[in-house]
Amino acid sequence: TAKQQGRNRFNYFASFMQEATRARMHLVNELREALQHDQLRILYQPIIDLSNGAVVKAEALVRWQHPVRGLLNPAEFLNVAESSGLIIGIGDWVFHQAALEVQKLQAISSPAFQVSVNKSAWQFRDDGSNYRRWLDFLKELKVSPQSLIVEVTENLLLDAASNNADLRHTHMQISLDDFGSGHCSVAFLKRFGVDYIKIAPEFVTQGGDGLLICEAMIAMAHKLGIKVIAEGIETQQQLAALTAIGCDFGQGYLLSRPISGPELEEKLQKQCEPVNK
Ligand code: C2E
Ligand code: MG
Ligand code: MG
Ligand code: MG
Repeated sequence: TAKQQGRNRFNYFASFMQEATRARMHLVNELREALQHDQLRILYQPIIDLSNGAVVKAEALVRWQHPVRGLLNPAEFLNVAESSGLIIGIGDWVFHQAALEVQKLQAISSPAFQVSVNKSAWQFRDDGSNYRRWLDFLKELKVSPQSLIVEVTENLLLDAASNNADLRHTHMQISLDDFGSGHCSVAFLKRFGVDYIKIAPEFVTQGGDGLLICEAMIAMAHKLGIKVIAEGIETQQQLAALTAIGCDFGQGYLLSRPISGPELEEKLQKQCEPVNK
């Protein structure tokens, strides 16, 4: 009967949900162990000064070296990390590593070298004690807060609950990630004391109108004293176009894939060696 069919379908749905819940709980447990057993890694993607091609910053991007599944991208575990609260511990770990790394990179290249870390909305909902811990790390390592850039998204900036004032008070720099993909108004950029905007890759890769939009965003940012980083640069053509319209910094597979800390250190070492010929 139809009723029976309905019940069967419900049972099927219920067992599907049960399976999904089990899988999620399994992933949460695995991720908790990953944090305890040093399975997390950070890759650093170089950010280049477009006026001279030098690597002057790097973005810290988390990875999970899973014992069975191999190296996992954030897309495969960030959701679970956030909804389970593990993102707080993961975020602290990433920040600590990034602070240690920037210390090494500054010693190799310049005290102006900066490392950026990504921060998601869930990490803000802990009353600002997060920032106190981060500032304590920095003090311990004798790394100045200006050496770190915190990348936040538009939604997060617009969310009144996320302690943006606390972030400004840390004196770490603030970068607005994926700019242009949300609803952030220019007025907000100024009000929140944003230091950098990162143009979302869709504008960079689009060409044509996308490039016009980039040009407008750059002009506006510069008027407000904000520097611009273009993300997702994959072709020489994009690089040339962005440089021509006055973009300050660039990041993307054309310039470099995300690489390990030691690889980045080596790259900077080479960059600093005098060219002898
Ligand atoms: P995002 O902050 O916008 O980072 C840029 C992403 O684009 C990275 O992906 C990077 O590997 C990728 N990418 C770089 N150059 C290119 C390019 O030329 N073409 C293309 N198609 N992609 C490029 P990834 O590492 O998979 O990270 C994805 C997102 O995960 C990040 O987006 C960021 O929102 C988040 N994430 C990464 N690490 C962390 C972390 O430690 N904490 C938090 N809360 N979020 C993180
Ligand atoms: Mg980012
Ligand atoms: Mg981005
Ligand atoms: Mg993003």
